[in-house]
Amino acid sequence: MKVYKFGGASVRSAEGIKNIADIVSKETENLFIIISAMGKTTNAMEIVLENFMKADRQAALNKLAEVEAYHSQIVAELFEQDTAGTEVLKSVFGEIKGHINTGIGDDYDRWYDCLVSYGEVISTKIISAYLNKCNVSNAWLDMRELLVTDSNYREANVRMEESQEKMEKSVDFSKSKIYIGQGFIGANTQGNPTTLGREGSDYSAAVVGNLLDAESVTIWKDVPGILNADPRLFENTVHIPEMTYLDAVELAYSGAQIIHPKTIKPLQNKEIPLYVRPFGNPEASGSVIKATVENPKEVPVLIVRKNQVLVTIRPRDFSFVLEESLPWLFTIIHKHRLKVSLIQSSAISISVGVDNTRYLEGALDELANDFKVSYNTGMELLTIRGINPDIEKETTAGREILLSQRTRRIGRFLMKEV
Ligand code: ASP
Ligand code: MG
Repeated sequence: MKVYKFGGASVRSAEGIKNIADIVSKETENLFIIISAMGKTTNAMEIVLENFMKADRQAALNKLAEVEAYHSQIVAELFEQDTAGTEVLKSVFGEIKGHINTGIGDDYDRWYDCLVSYGEVISTKIISAYLNKCNVSNAWLDMRELLVTDSNYREANVRMEESQEKMEKSVDFSKSKIYIGQGFIGANTQGNPTTLGREGSDYSAAVVGNLLDAESVTIWKDVPGILNADPRLFENTVHIPEMTYLDAVELAYSGAQIIHPKTIKPLQNKEIPLYVRPFGNPEASGSVIKATVENPKEVPVLIVRKNQVLVTIRPRDFSFVLEESLPWLFTIIHKHRLKVSLIQSSAISISVGVDNTRYLEGALDELANDFKVSYNTGMELLTIRGINPDIEKETTAGREILLSQRTRRIGRFLMKEV
């Protein structure tokens, strides 16, 4: 069997969903399809959640109405007179409204997972119904019943063994050749919905590939495959047909948007190749990530991780002992769920690059109890693999660089965003 994953951009319009029907109907092997929420639905559901948490139920319902209208439009184009799509909308949006009208917004992270996870529930139900209507018969699965996770809401980790048992009971390709499930979502052992981190659908696809011993996992994207840089940020990008798991992990960690950092481990464990293929051009081969690569492409790779904050901590006197301070610093980083992009130390300071998230403020407060803390927001981290003087000059000339690091092959520059 194979796993196919379609992201939000692929399913943002009726046209995209028709294209999926086309791609899937040509596949002769058994398929497990993982799908994200449509377009920018996750962002919109985050706003629904914010309003709900502020106990402004009306504002939450108004935003939800926008989300519903967007989906209704797509359903109208896909189903025309057929009522299957509108029935899906009625029941799912009815459920969400029930939560908003009666729920008490006590725990932000838990409510986030309860409400925001509906984006994927809606998209998969619509697409499953549409494929059935097109005679591409398939079975819909609720990943909140199949992927068992820990209770680390908004950033949950899948428990592989427990999930495996559930998957094996529910997935039987002799009954259905195609299964459809949601990316990004699961549930803890109490059955509370959890989410796996923003852009986590790739991770879901990799986990499902691992659990079902897939021969391959394919992520369909709106790019020709893996490129050496994001074409929205750089000109003259180069296609990279093959890449090792190791290189892919490094790229993802540095901030490459192409795959979620957690995606590689479940695949690497079973040596399952990961294909990245262009959604708009299914005939093209795209790129593949696998254990070993015969002819690695020697081209500099540029990755930009945006929305960074440079945090610097110093002792109040000269009593700084790195070995004593580091473990404590990491405890705070872990506790406040900060995502570290870079670390540098000197005799009397430690500088850490982190993603700018809603948890940062709490971490800075706690650090300030014992240290002098300063920080710069509005930064981006440029990582160049295979760095050479020309490419360095080209990408950093005229930029304000606050911190840089280099090894023989890799240069990293934390700079003010432009
Ligand atoms: N819908 C989720 C997000 O936008 C998960 C994903 O698309 O991978 O973050
Ligand atoms: Mg997405």
